[in-house]
Amino acid sequence: MPEAPFEHLQFTRREALRTFTLTLGAAALPGALGITSVRAATPSPTAAASATPAPVVSTSLGDKLNLISGVGGNIALLAGADGALVVDSGIVEAVAKTQSELAKAGPLALLVNTHWHYDHVGGNEAIARTGARIIAHENCRQRMATEQFVEAYNRKIPPSPAGALPLVTINTPTTLHLNDEEIRLLPVLPAHTDGDVIVHFQKADLIHTGDLFFNGGYPYIDYSSRGVLGGLVTAIRDLVAMTGAKTRIIPGHGPLATPADLKSYLAFLETMLDRFSKLKAEGKSVDEVVAAAPSKDFDERLGQRFLKPDQFVRITYTGMLK
Ligand SMILES: [Zn+2]
Repeated sequence: MPEAPFEHLQFTRREALRTFTLTLGAAALPGALGITSVRAATPSPTAAASATPAPVVSTSLGDKLNLISGVGGNIALLAGADGALVVDSGIVEAVAKTQSELAKAGPLALLVNTHWHYDHVGGNEAIARTGARIIAHENCRQRMATEQFVEAYNRKIPPSPAGALPLVTINTPTTLHLNDEEIRLLPVLPAHTDGDVIVHFQKADLIHTGDLFFNGGYPYIDYSSRGVLGGLVTAIRDLVAMTGAKTRIIPGHGPLATPADLKSYLAFLETMLDRFSKLKAEGKSVDEVVAAAPSKDFDERLGQRFLKPDQFVRITYTGMLK
Protein backbone atom coordinates (compact mmCIF):
# COMPACT_ATOMS: atom_id res chain seq x y z
CA MET A 1 0.00 0.00 0.00
CA PRO A 2 2.50 2.64 0.96
CA GLU A 3 3.91 2.74 -2.53
CA ALA A 4 0.64 4.37 -3.40
CA PRO A 5 1.61 7.99 -3.94
CA PHE A 6 4.18 7.18 -6.56
CA GLU A 7 4.14 6.75 -10.24
CA HIS A 8 5.13 3.12 -10.42
CA LEU A 9 1.70 1.98 -9.40
CA GLN A 10 -1.05 1.82 -11.91
CA PHE A 11 -3.69 3.79 -10.12
CA THR A 12 -7.18 4.48 -10.99
CA ARG A 13 -7.77 8.21 -11.09
CA ARG A 14 -9.96 7.92 -8.01
CA GLU A 15 -7.20 6.24 -6.04
CA ALA A 16 -4.54 8.69 -7.18
CA LEU A 17 -6.66 11.68 -6.31
CA ARG A 18 -7.60 10.22 -2.95
CA THR A 19 -3.95 9.62 -2.12
CA PHE A 20 -2.97 13.06 -3.27
CA THR A 21 -5.69 14.61 -1.17
CA LEU A 22 -4.55 12.66 1.86
CA THR A 23 -1.00 13.77 1.26
CA LEU A 24 -2.01 17.38 0.96
CA GLY A 25 -4.06 17.03 4.10
CA ALA A 26 -1.11 15.64 5.98
CA ALA A 27 1.03 18.54 4.83
CA ALA A 28 -1.10 20.89 6.85
CA LEU A 29 -0.40 18.99 10.04
CA PRO A 30 2.71 20.19 11.81
CA GLY A 31 5.08 17.38 12.58
CA ALA A 32 3.32 14.89 10.35
CA LEU A 33 6.54 13.09 9.53
CA GLY A 34 7.59 15.64 6.97
CA ILE A 35 4.90 14.62 4.56
CA THR A 36 5.19 18.24 3.45
CA SER A 37 8.37 17.55 1.61
CA VAL A 38 7.00 14.32 0.17
CA ARG A 39 4.12 16.28 -1.28
CA ALA A 40 6.32 19.09 -2.48
CA ALA A 41 8.56 16.67 -4.32
CA THR A 42 5.89 14.69 -6.10
CA PRO A 43 2.83 16.53 -7.23
CA SER A 44 3.30 15.82 -10.90
CA PRO A 45 4.19 12.09 -10.74
CA THR A 46 1.07 11.50 -8.67
CA ALA A 47 -1.04 13.30 -11.22
CA ALA A 48 0.75 11.47 -14.02
CA ALA A 49 -0.09 8.11 -12.46
CA SER A 50 -3.76 8.67 -13.04
CA ALA A 51 -3.25 9.94 -16.57
CA THR A 52 -1.04 7.16 -17.91
CA PRO A 53 -1.75 3.77 -16.41
CA ALA A 54 0.85 1.19 -17.38
CA PRO A 55 -0.42 -1.71 -19.49
CA VAL A 56 -0.88 -5.19 -18.05
CA VAL A 57 1.92 -7.37 -19.39
CA SER A 58 2.24 -11.13 -19.05
CA THR A 59 5.70 -12.50 -19.83
CA SER A 60 6.42 -16.20 -20.27
CA LEU A 61 9.39 -17.36 -18.20
CA GLY A 62 9.23 -20.95 -19.45
CA ASP A 63 8.54 -23.96 -17.20
CA LYS A 64 4.82 -23.00 -17.18
CA LEU A 65 5.73 -19.81 -15.33
CA ASN A 66 4.60 -16.29 -16.16
CA LEU A 67 5.35 -12.86 -14.77
CA ILE A 68 2.35 -10.54 -14.74
CA SER A 69 3.06 -6.84 -14.25
CA GLY A 70 1.00 -3.68 -14.42
CA VAL A 71 -1.63 -4.62 -11.82
CA GLY A 72 0.19 -3.44 -8.67
CA GLY A 73 3.08 -5.52 -7.33
CA ASN A 74 4.58 -8.07 -9.71
CA ILE A 75 2.72 -11.39 -9.87
CA ALA A 76 4.21 -14.85 -10.58
CA LEU A 77 1.97 -17.56 -12.01
CA LEU A 78 2.74 -21.29 -12.21
CA ALA A 79 0.35 -23.35 -14.33
CA GLY A 80 -0.11 -27.13 -14.24
CA ALA A 81 -2.37 -30.12 -13.80
CA ASP A 82 -2.50 -29.80 -10.00
CA GLY A 83 -4.06 -26.36 -10.33
CA ALA A 84 -2.26 -23.06 -10.76
CA LEU A 85 -0.26 -21.28 -8.08
CA VAL A 86 -0.09 -17.49 -8.03
CA VAL A 87 2.19 -15.23 -5.99
CA ASP A 88 0.43 -12.00 -4.96
CA SER A 89 -2.82 -10.62 -6.29
CA GLY A 90 -2.28 -6.97 -7.29
CA ILE A 91 -4.45 -3.97 -6.46
CA VAL A 92 -8.17 -4.39 -5.99
CA GLU A 93 -8.90 -1.86 -8.75
CA ALA A 94 -7.17 -4.13 -11.29
CA VAL A 95 -8.64 -7.42 -10.15
CA ALA A 96 -10.64 -8.01 -13.34
CA LYS A 97 -7.48 -7.64 -15.43
CA THR A 98 -5.54 -9.84 -13.03
CA GLN A 99 -8.17 -12.55 -13.12
CA SER A 100 -8.32 -12.58 -16.90
CA GLU A 101 -4.54 -13.19 -16.97
CA LEU A 102 -4.75 -15.84 -14.25
CA ALA A 103 -7.60 -17.61 -16.04
CA LYS A 104 -5.22 -18.54 -18.85
CA ALA A 105 -3.53 -20.95 -16.42
CA GLY A 106 -6.79 -22.76 -15.59
CA PRO A 107 -8.28 -23.22 -12.10
CA LEU A 108 -6.22 -21.75 -9.27
CA ALA A 109 -5.21 -23.98 -6.36
CA LEU A 110 -3.01 -21.71 -4.26
CA LEU A 111 -2.30 -18.01 -3.74
CA VAL A 112 0.83 -17.01 -1.81
CA ASN A 113 1.09 -13.45 -0.47
CA THR A 114 4.59 -12.01 -0.08
CA HIS A 115 3.33 -9.44 2.49
CA TRP A 116 0.23 -7.51 3.51
CA HIS A 117 0.46 -4.29 1.42
CA TYR A 118 -2.63 -3.56 -0.62
CA ASP A 119 -0.88 -3.67 -3.98
CA HIS A 120 0.00 -7.34 -3.27
CA VAL A 121 -3.22 -8.60 -1.64
CA GLY A 122 -5.89 -6.47 -3.35
CA GLY A 123 -7.16 -9.36 -5.50
CA ASN A 124 -7.23 -11.88 -2.63
CA GLU A 125 -10.94 -11.91 -1.98
CA ALA A 126 -11.94 -12.31 -5.62
CA ILE A 127 -9.30 -14.97 -6.24
CA ALA A 128 -10.19 -16.92 -3.09
CA ARG A 129 -13.80 -16.95 -4.24
CA THR A 130 -12.71 -19.02 -7.24
CA GLY A 131 -11.45 -21.70 -4.85
CA ALA A 132 -7.79 -20.76 -4.35
CA ARG A 133 -6.37 -21.26 -0.87
CA ILE A 134 -4.28 -18.38 0.46
CA ILE A 135 -0.94 -18.87 2.24
CA ALA A 136 1.08 -16.10 3.92
CA HIS A 137 3.30 -15.20 6.86
CA GLU A 138 1.36 -15.18 10.11
CA ASN A 139 2.16 -11.47 10.59
CA CYS A 140 0.77 -10.76 7.13
CA ARG A 141 -2.57 -12.26 8.13
CA GLN A 142 -2.47 -10.50 11.47
CA ARG A 143 -1.98 -7.08 9.83
CA MET A 144 -4.61 -7.75 7.16
CA ALA A 145 -7.11 -8.74 9.85
CA THR A 146 -6.75 -5.54 11.87
CA GLU A 147 -6.75 -1.81 11.12
CA GLN A 148 -3.28 -0.54 10.33
CA PHE A 149 -1.84 2.96 10.48
CA VAL A 150 1.04 3.73 8.14
CA GLU A 151 2.74 6.74 9.64
CA ALA A 152 4.90 7.60 6.63
CA TYR A 153 1.73 8.29 4.62
CA ASN A 154 -0.46 9.29 7.55
CA ARG A 155 -2.90 6.68 6.34
CA LYS A 156 -5.21 4.26 8.07
CA ILE A 157 -5.83 0.95 6.34
CA PRO A 158 -9.08 -0.79 7.33
CA PRO A 159 -9.12 -4.53 8.01
CA SER A 160 -9.47 -6.75 4.96
CA PRO A 161 -12.72 -8.66 4.45
CA ALA A 162 -12.70 -12.13 5.95
CA GLY A 163 -12.67 -13.73 2.50
CA ALA A 164 -9.36 -12.02 1.68
CA LEU A 165 -7.48 -13.44 4.66
CA PRO A 166 -4.93 -16.25 4.35
CA LEU A 167 -6.21 -19.72 5.23
CA VAL A 168 -2.73 -21.04 6.04
CA THR A 169 -0.08 -19.04 7.90
CA ILE A 170 3.58 -19.87 8.27
CA ASN A 171 6.55 -18.59 10.21
CA THR A 172 9.15 -21.20 9.26
CA PRO A 173 10.41 -22.38 5.85
CA THR A 174 7.74 -24.39 4.09
CA THR A 175 7.76 -26.33 0.83
CA LEU A 176 4.87 -26.72 -1.59
CA HIS A 177 4.91 -29.61 -4.07
CA LEU A 178 2.84 -28.72 -7.08
CA ASN A 179 2.96 -29.11 -10.85
CA ASP A 180 6.35 -30.86 -10.81
CA GLU A 181 7.83 -27.89 -8.95
CA GLU A 182 9.14 -27.50 -5.44
CA ILE A 183 8.25 -24.08 -4.16
CA ARG A 184 10.09 -22.96 -1.05
CA LEU A 185 8.39 -20.30 1.06
CA LEU A 186 10.96 -18.53 3.21
CA PRO A 187 9.75 -16.15 5.91
CA VAL A 188 12.38 -13.53 6.77
CA LEU A 189 12.94 -11.46 9.89
CA PRO A 190 11.53 -7.88 9.74
CA ALA A 191 12.83 -6.21 6.58
CA HIS A 192 10.30 -4.49 4.25
CA THR A 193 7.61 -5.43 6.84
CA ASP A 194 7.54 -8.03 9.62
CA GLY A 195 5.58 -10.44 7.44
CA ASP A 196 7.69 -10.89 4.31
CA VAL A 197 7.97 -14.23 2.52
CA ILE A 198 10.43 -15.07 -0.28
CA VAL A 199 9.09 -17.55 -2.85
CA HIS A 200 11.67 -19.78 -4.54
CA PHE A 201 10.65 -21.98 -7.48
CA GLN A 202 13.55 -24.34 -7.10
CA LYS A 203 13.45 -26.33 -10.35
CA ALA A 204 12.90 -23.22 -12.47
CA ASP A 205 15.50 -21.37 -10.37
CA LEU A 206 13.19 -18.38 -10.09
CA ILE A 207 12.73 -16.24 -6.97
CA HIS A 208 9.91 -13.81 -6.19
CA THR A 209 11.26 -11.40 -3.57
CA GLY A 210 8.12 -9.41 -2.83
CA ASP A 211 9.00 -5.84 -1.84
CA LEU A 212 12.35 -6.79 -0.34
CA PHE A 213 13.59 -5.74 -3.78
CA PHE A 214 12.57 -2.69 -5.80
CA ASN A 215 14.50 -3.16 -9.03
CA GLY A 216 15.78 0.12 -10.43
CA GLY A 217 14.74 2.49 -7.68
CA TYR A 218 14.77 3.35 -4.02
CA PRO A 219 13.00 0.83 -1.80
CA TYR A 220 10.17 1.69 0.54
CA ILE A 221 10.65 0.31 4.06
CA ASP A 222 7.44 0.22 6.09
CA TYR A 223 8.62 1.00 9.59
CA SER A 224 5.03 1.11 10.85
CA SER A 225 5.00 -2.63 10.05
CA ARG A 226 8.38 -3.07 11.80
CA GLY A 227 10.35 -2.95 8.56
CA VAL A 228 13.89 -1.65 8.97
CA LEU A 229 16.95 -1.10 6.78
CA GLY A 230 19.25 -3.36 8.83
CA GLY A 231 16.79 -6.23 8.41
CA LEU A 232 16.50 -5.54 4.69
CA VAL A 233 20.28 -5.74 4.31
CA THR A 234 20.28 -9.11 6.07
CA ALA A 235 17.43 -10.41 3.89
CA ILE A 236 19.12 -9.31 0.67
CA ARG A 237 22.43 -10.88 1.75
CA ASP A 238 20.52 -14.14 2.25
CA LEU A 239 18.87 -13.73 -1.13
CA VAL A 240 22.21 -13.13 -2.86
CA ALA A 241 23.52 -16.30 -1.21
CA MET A 242 20.55 -18.23 -2.66
CA THR A 243 21.26 -17.19 -6.24
CA GLY A 244 23.32 -19.01 -8.85
CA ALA A 245 24.57 -17.61 -12.14
CA LYS A 246 21.30 -18.35 -13.94
CA THR A 247 18.80 -17.48 -11.22
CA ARG A 248 16.05 -15.13 -12.33
CA ILE A 249 14.54 -12.74 -9.84
CA ILE A 250 11.08 -11.20 -9.81
CA PRO A 251 11.22 -8.05 -7.67
CA GLY A 252 8.16 -6.62 -5.93
CA HIS A 253 8.32 -3.74 -8.39
CA GLY A 254 10.39 -3.15 -11.51
CA PRO A 255 11.59 -5.46 -14.27
CA LEU A 256 12.78 -9.07 -14.00
CA ALA A 257 16.27 -9.00 -12.49
CA THR A 258 19.55 -10.89 -12.55
CA PRO A 259 21.83 -11.84 -9.65
CA ALA A 260 24.07 -8.93 -10.72
CA ASP A 261 21.14 -6.52 -10.24
CA LEU A 262 20.55 -7.95 -6.78
CA LYS A 263 24.23 -7.63 -5.83
CA SER A 264 24.27 -4.02 -6.98
CA TYR A 265 21.16 -3.36 -4.87
CA LEU A 266 22.86 -4.99 -1.86
CA ALA A 267 25.94 -2.80 -2.25
CA PHE A 268 23.72 0.28 -2.32
CA LEU A 269 21.79 -0.86 0.79
CA GLU A 270 24.99 -1.62 2.69
CA THR A 271 26.40 1.80 1.83
CA MET A 272 23.24 3.53 3.01
CA LEU A 273 23.09 1.48 6.21
CA ASP A 274 26.65 2.55 6.96
CA ARG A 275 25.92 6.23 6.26
CA PHE A 276 22.65 6.31 8.20
CA SER A 277 24.26 4.49 11.15
CA LYS A 278 27.00 7.13 11.37
CA LEU A 279 24.45 9.96 11.18
CA LYS A 280 22.37 8.27 13.86
CA ALA A 281 25.44 7.92 16.11
CA GLU A 282 26.05 11.65 15.64
CA GLY A 283 22.53 12.31 16.88
CA LYS A 284 21.30 13.85 13.63
CA SER A 285 17.59 14.58 13.30
CA VAL A 286 15.50 13.42 10.36
CA ASP A 287 15.41 16.93 8.88
CA GLU A 288 19.19 17.31 9.23
CA VAL A 289 19.75 13.99 7.48
CA VAL A 290 17.35 14.85 4.65
CA ALA A 291 19.16 18.20 4.23
CA ALA A 292 22.53 16.41 4.11
CA ALA A 293 21.36 14.38 1.05
CA PRO A 294 23.24 11.21 2.04
CA SER A 295 22.01 9.31 -1.03
CA LYS A 296 23.21 11.96 -3.49
CA ASP A 297 25.55 9.70 -5.47
CA PHE A 298 22.73 7.17 -6.03
CA ASP A 299 20.00 9.66 -6.85
CA GLU A 300 20.50 9.73 -10.61
CA ARG A 301 20.38 5.94 -10.86
CA LEU A 302 17.77 5.13 -8.22
CA GLY A 303 15.79 8.31 -7.63
CA GLN A 304 13.91 8.38 -10.93
CA ARG A 305 11.16 5.86 -10.11
CA PHE A 306 9.41 4.68 -6.96
CA LEU A 307 10.52 6.92 -4.08
CA LYS A 308 12.22 10.26 -4.68
CA PRO A 309 15.57 10.74 -2.91
CA ASP A 310 14.25 12.87 -0.04
CA GLN A 311 11.34 10.47 0.49
CA PHE A 312 13.66 7.48 0.64
CA VAL A 313 15.99 9.22 3.08
CA ARG A 314 13.22 10.56 5.30
CA ILE A 315 11.27 7.31 5.56
CA THR A 316 14.28 5.01 5.90
CA TYR A 317 16.10 7.12 8.49
CA THR A 318 12.90 7.70 10.50
CA GLY A 319 12.54 3.93 10.67
CA MET A 320 16.07 3.59 11.98
CA LEU A 321 15.31 6.00 14.82
CA LYS A 322 12.33 3.93 15.98
ZN1 LIG B 1 5.15 -3.48 0.08
